[in-house]
Amino acid sequence: MWPLNGLDTGKMKGLWLLLVLVAVANAERVFVGDQVIRVNVQSEEDVQFLQALEAQQEWELDFWLHPVSPELPVDIRVPRSSLSAVKEYLHAHNIHFTVIIDNLQELLDEEKAEMEENQMKERSTRSFDFGAYHTLETIYSWMDTLVAQHPNLVTKQEIGRSYENRPMYVLKFSTGGSKRPAIWIDAGIHSREWVTQATGVWTANKIATDYGRDTSLTSLLNTMDIYMLILANPDGYVYTHTNNRMWRKTRSKFSGSVCRGADPNRNWDAGFGGPGASNNPCLDTYHGPSAHSEIEVKNVVNLIKSHGNFKSFISVHAYSQLLMYPHGYSCNNVPDQPELDSVGKAAVQKLASLYGTSYKVGSICKIIYQASGGSIDWSYDVGIKYSFAFELRDTGRYGFLLPANQIIPTAEETWLALKHILEYVRDHPY
Ligand code: ZN
Repeated sequence: MWPLNGLDTGKMKGLWLLLVLVAVANAERVFVGDQVIRVNVQSEEDVQFLQALEAQQEWELDFWLHPVSPELPVDIRVPRSSLSAVKEYLHAHNIHFTVIIDNLQELLDEEKAEMEENQMKERSTRSFDFGAYHTLETIYSWMDTLVAQHPNLVTKQEIGRSYENRPMYVLKFSTGGSKRPAIWIDAGIHSREWVTQATGVWTANKIATDYGRDTSLTSLLNTMDIYMLILANPDGYVYTHTNNRMWRKTRSKFSGSVCRGADPNRNWDAGFGGPGASNNPCLDTYHGPSAHSEIEVKNVVNLIKSHGNFKSFISVHAYSQLLMYPHGYSCNNVPDQPELDSVGKAAVQKLASLYGTSYKVGSICKIIYQASGGSIDWSYDVGIKYSFAFELRDTGRYGFLLPANQIIPTAEETWLALKHILEYVRDHPY
């Protein structure tokens, strides 16, 4: 028997070697044993302590929610290799925390298995499941289907290319006219916030199918255009599928650093380089070498400026369940604060009416954190009054890994808030 065994062992070794090579070639990062912990912040002192923790890089901590005030929790992904050191450190300083995700890789494996199963189902039934996460290719080809189904309403327009030369597509919903007052909606500027791109897809389909059926939306589209950029950070999105599910930034290279990518929501020319953004290319909030250095941001800026008639600018993020208005770079009230606040509050009331999901409303600076170089600060400062940013579900049970079965409920409730803002903009021309 042994020669046969020997042969099998040899084959097995070859197979293992092949698998290892495939794994190395794919270089997909794994998060086995990584935990996400929620720190209960008690005092201003705790906040400062956690901010210092965020500034150090030794433990490779990934802050899902940043330390800002004693009222807000802080979520941190802690790599397995740093777990005991971090926990000891927090204990020693008498700071309490709970583990909200025990082993991140388990959730990632579930998500991946579900996606693969769904891909097979979609292929065999030639259908598209709005309640599933999809790759960039699938979303781009679904856009063609949507355009084909609604040729008199929807067009797909390339607004430029990403750093890695991927096309950036906007879906334009228009019933005619030229440079009508318009509404801008983008999703996925932070690539790991997958529920935002999925919500964008559902919403685009909703707008297309409700036109002609829903009288309010129909009247809106008879006088205004809607532009949707569902994948605002295409390179980052692809990277979350192929290499690192936790990737947030662009994929640009910078001279003098081995770290890649800038935070495309710290890169706008609005308080650029101020508080709440980092000048360290290795951090997740790196603002980039200069305002609009990121081509993905520049492409949007060019479109908005050359169009010149946008009345509303809405950016969709996750997570925390917030509806925010400018500014992020300053905590002073903007001139339109009372109006934006009341529109926002009415919008989240509509949102909550469907599943009871509760949202907070306020300026970025006041309800999450001071953050400079953000998109809606830029849009507001260039004169687009109705500038809002959403942080979708949840409040931290799954964070960026919201299960796919929550995509449709999230999109449905968000639509009620979006629609309220859209109708308000239609009824309050300026
Ligand atoms: Zn975000």
